Amino acid sequence: MLAGAAPVWSPFSLERSSRMRTFTGVLFLAVTALVAAAAMPSARQAAKPAKLALVGGMLLDGYEAGPIHNAAVLIDGERIVKVGRAAEMTIPPDYTVVDTSGRTMLPGMIELHGHLILLGHGNYGEWFPWIAKQGPGTLTTVMEVAAKQLLMAGVTSAVDLGAPLKESLDVRDRIATGAIPGPRMSMSGPWITRNGGGMTDQFGGIAVTSTAQAAAEVEKLAAAGVDVIKAHSGLTRDDYKAIADAAHKHGIRVHAHVYAEEDVRNALEMGIDVLSHAGSAGTAPPYSPGLITDIVNAGRPVVITAAHRAWVYPDTVDFPERLQDPQLKKDLTPAIYAEVQRSLGNWRALGYFQRTDREMIFRERGVKQFTESGTVLGMGTDSGTPMNFHTEALWREAKVHVDMGMPAIKVITALTRTGAAVLGKTRDLGTVEPGKLADIIVVNGNPLFDITALAHVETVVKGGRVVKGGSPAR
Ligand SMILES: [Zn+2]
Ligand SMILES: [Zn+2]
Repeated sequence: MLAGAAPVWSPFSLERSSRMRTFTGVLFLAVTALVAAAAMPSARQAAKPAKLALVGGMLLDGYEAGPIHNAAVLIDGERIVKVGRAAEMTIPPDYTVVDTSGRTMLPGMIELHGHLILLGHGNYGEWFPWIAKQGPGTLTTVMEVAAKQLLMAGVTSAVDLGAPLKESLDVRDRIATGAIPGPRMSMSGPWITRNGGGMTDQFGGIAVTSTAQAAAEVEKLAAAGVDVIKAHSGLTRDDYKAIADAAHKHGIRVHAHVYAEEDVRNALEMGIDVLSHAGSAGTAPPYSPGLITDIVNAGRPVVITAAHRAWVYPDTVDFPERLQDPQLKKDLTPAIYAEVQRSLGNWRALGYFQRTDREMIFRERGVKQFTESGTVLGMGTDSGTPMNFHTEALWREAKVHVDMGMPAIKVITALTRTGAAVLGKTRDLGTVEPGKLADIIVVNGNPLFDITALAHVETVVKGGRVVKGGSPAR
């Protein structure tokens, strides 16, 4: 449920109740049970919701608690039915066992700020006309590629904040029916702004000229079936309030695109649910302490999108080879790959990065003002923006937060449980515990030791279906 337009917003208002992790049934699992399971059909063959057991690895369940070592997760259909230590559970013989030994299991990651219509191309002013020139269907192809990239990177839920309405809903719905692979998508469709032209035109946003129009546009988007609203920059205090009120009437949350102190404060005070980009430097010094205190006291979630310029750019200076990651060539069509590569040929000169040197001056303070103050942080990346590929944006964002001093276990909670809270979906998503939807990833390594283990997603289970990896036990 939404907290409505009330300024105090509690992301965890949905309590765990009967959904506590259960350690019942202290029954011994013999190694022989695992061996017997090897005779079962492979998880890849059984890629439909069935009975699935993920057995052997370390489990991080999404709470900021210690891991469960040598754990087992039982999944029946699309939901988790049992979680605990493998040695204390019996795996019924009709479960397909996926051996996760030596790996880490955790909830599927939640990307709170992505762009399916972007694939890392260097220049919006060239990218969208290029798509249009390719003819109908290319925009949809781009969105499908992006959605699949996210899912294969371990993102099982994502928010898209700015794309044409029809294509947005179409891609979301085809993912939901299983027609195409992708995360569970929450789509904003077009964003709402007072700043017409430029990016708003390129992304298909809606430029309004009055508060009443802003509210009316929210009504139209809600009627069309969007999941969230994006309030882009340039809006007035009254606009924010009208947008929030209109959205909340429909149980829809509003994500604000805010950098400047005044915009952040207006969005906070007028009831906007999520403050996106705040803290990602811009060219400004950190916010005033009073504003941070007010954000913390309100419990309002912030999605910094820290990495996408101020870290991705210097990382690319150090390792420009990342732009030719072979995975990109595999994921993109040859024509799209060629166009993206062309656009990045002289990436140092891209307009998108022309203020990044100044952003880098403030990047650490920009993030630490939130990580050190107890702000509710979700994880979002602006994935798809120049050189910020869907294949890796979220682990890069996670790494920045860890490098800025946030404990890895807190970052993992931000990626999972807090993400679900920001979506308002804690009943179904964000943790690995009985009753939740079985969105679980298996990564190679220990992300508590090295958060970039999140770059090595071997298995993805979404709604009980193995959609990546999942070799059966031997
Ligand atoms: Zn934005
Ligand atoms: Zn964005």
